[in-house]
Amino acid sequence: MAMIHSAPRGNREARPHWVAAREGRLAMPFCQPCNAWNWPPAGACPHCGTALTWRDCSGAGRVVSFSIVRRAVQPEWKDHAPYVVAVIELAEGVRLLSNVVDCPAEEVTMGAAVQVAFHETTDPELGLPVFRLVG
Ligand SMILES: [Zn+2]
Repeated sequence: MAMIHSAPRGNREARPHWVAAREGRLAMPFCQPCNAWNWPPAGACPHCGTALTWRDCSGAGRVVSFSIVRRAVQPEWKDHAPYVVAVIELAEGVRLLSNVVDCPAEEVTMGAAVQVAFHETTDPELGLPVFRLVG
């Protein structure tokens, strides 16, 4: 069942990430001179000041840490508790905070392989990347 999430707020620099998610892409900010990902994004690379460029990632990753939330903070998650908030390390090496969805929370383990999926938000221009267990 697809959830409609609240539109992402705050960190306006991350907007290209949400827009890409609406288009079915997982775009992450990258600094060319540093050859490094920068997440969460800022206006420029915090190390060298270069403007960040957005690169599409494969969407494959692993769970590096997670917690099971039993009482939803956001109203749209209420009927889905318990749910999983996880730090995902993408195959490209960058980490982001997201959710592991469409499985019982107990099935999520450290190191589990995941693949991105995209949920709609209340803003028709913005999507939200989430992850599903692979296999
Ligand atoms: Zn840099």
